Amino acid sequence: MDFTTRFAPSPTGHLHRGHAFSALTAHAAARAAGGRFVLRIEDIDVTRSRPAFEAAIIEDLAWLGLDWETPVRRQSEHLADYHAAIETLRERGLVYRCFRTRKDLAAEAEAIASAPHGRVPAFRGARLSAAEEAERLAAGEAFAWRLSLDAAEAALGGFAGLNFVEEGAGPDGERGPIVAEPRRLGDIVLARKDVGVAYHLAVVLDDALQGVSQVVRGNDLFEAAHIQRLLQALLDLPTPTYRHHRLLTGPDGRRYAKRDRAETLRDLRARGMTAEALRAELGFG
Ligand code: GLU
Repeated sequence: MDFTTRFAPSPTGHLHRGHAFSALTAHAAARAAGGRFVLRIEDIDVTRSRPAFEAAIIEDLAWLGLDWETPVRRQSEHLADYHAAIETLRERGLVYRCFRTRKDLAAEAEAIASAPHGRVPAFRGARLSAAEEAERLAAGEAFAWRLSLDAAEAALGGFAGLNFVEEGAGPDGERGPIVAEPRRLGDIVLARKDVGVAYHLAVVLDDALQGVSQVVRGNDLFEAAHIQRLLQALLDLPTPTYRHHRLLTGPDGRRYAKRDRAETLRDLRARGMTAEALRAELGFG
């Protein structure tokens, strides 16, 4: 397979050093392999994505000296593809409606709505009786689609054959062939109430669609590979190799994160830092 990797930012804020490291790592891997580097804008979270952030991301990546294929895939333009995949899973009995409200699920909803970093507590939802479900649908209650791990396990005849290859390292140094453990994250939401799709499903479909052979990203998403591997099996999609990289930490020893208002690439630029200096600092001199 030709080598293709990607950088898949969510336009919910400005890029910081951690993003630059991730993008440079992926870009360098593509160059070293004589392969492709693609960019994907993960803007399905309509409540938090902003066109201005997308424009800023493109500007920052160009400033860093990266180039990528066009057209750039923008997830918000492909909602019908994701909905079709959900429908396929629904026809096969692999998803169920979850009517829980944000309030019911405050902690989990928060974790799902924000970028998928960090560990989400495993959720085991319960299917409602047909009568109760019909009643809630008739009342116009909104629902999310959750993946049923029990149904998925039955459909595949067990999870035993699910593996992926880690060419970087997980947060605990996991590398090499890894046995996927889809139950780690529980019955995840595949389609959010508001936009009809959620992170894991969109990523798995898009990685396949863009021909991504190696997923390069931070090791805070290592857990995600366990469930994404399952979705690949259910949707009959190829499994890329994974290269999770370490997370950069700031002078305070904490990892850079949008929510901490980490110094952005634009801040660095504004105070006169050159792209060359930043690349050198991050080990890409
Ligand atoms: N869009 C995700 C983020 O900004 C990255 C998804 C991925 O690399 O799988 O964190």
